[in-house]
Amino acid sequence: MAIFNKIELPTVKNIIIVASGKGGVGKSTVSSNLSVALARQGYKVALVDADIYGPSIPKMFGIEDAHPDFIKINDKDMILPIETQGIKIMSIGFFVDKKQGLIWRGPMASGAVTQLFEDTHWGDVDYMILDFPPGTGDIQLTIAQKMKLTGVVVVTTPQEVATIDARKAISMFNTDKITIPILGIVENMSWFTPAPHPDEKYFIFGKGGGELLAKETNTQLLGQIPLIAELGEAADKGQTAFATTNQTLIDAFEGIVKKILA
Ligand code: ADP
Repeated sequence: MAIFNKIELPTVKNIIIVASGKGGVGKSTVSSNLSVALARQGYKVALVDADIYGPSIPKMFGIEDAHPDFIKINDKDMILPIETQGIKIMSIGFFVDKKQGLIWRGPMASGAVTQLFEDTHWGDVDYMILDFPPGTGDIQLTIAQKMKLTGVVVVTTPQEVATIDARKAISMFNTDKITIPILGIVENMSWFTPAPHPDEKYFIFGKGGGELLAKETNTQLLGQIPLIAELGEAADKGQTAFATTNQTLIDAFEGIVKKILA
């Protein structure tokens, strides 16, 4: 007998986790931009904000005040995801008061995330991107054990401390109970280029951490994203890199998607 009830999403073809060892490395930024890049290529995309302690996806898409509708399917009330830029978005952030911190403990939190998947009417989806909570807690283990996952993208900054934590996250997907393919590493905040000096690169968080991590964990470096103020500013306005005119950023995210699809 299986200990866990599996979460089955029969209309979803591929489920890709975006994970990180620690918070603040740009996991939600990468999840959002990969989703937009995939949708721009014509794929049917869903984005699930599984980071239930700090849901930031609604803000990054400017839909913080959205309230999902419900639809009755086979006598069951199902949630309709919020659709924007061709992406079906679901987040616990749609259901909680933003001023109230989330204080759920392990089992409750895992239950809420499970519901987020099972009680949403997804329809046909080619790629579902999961913005995972940082680290290796209960929610992460629940999802990794209960869902049929295509693979994992791991986001890190180049610093050694970040790559050490990223390595721990990677090892969670490769145990005797769980084996989920690591699709590769995304190194974020790889260097800083001041706007007036586009040819200069300053490696303020160190250099080569993503490449080294990829080598050590037998996977590939999917891409490097520079630290560019426009990206953070866009996120604050509810926009992604694709709303900016920064071709370096757009090329970086499109290159990562190309490697994932390959
Ligand atoms: P995480 O999901 O790992 O906690 P976020 O994606 O929320 O991290 O990013 C943390 C902050 O850093 C956000 O304000 C985001 O806009 C900003 N940020 C992330 N990546 C970059 C980048 N490459 N350039 C500029 N700002 C970035």
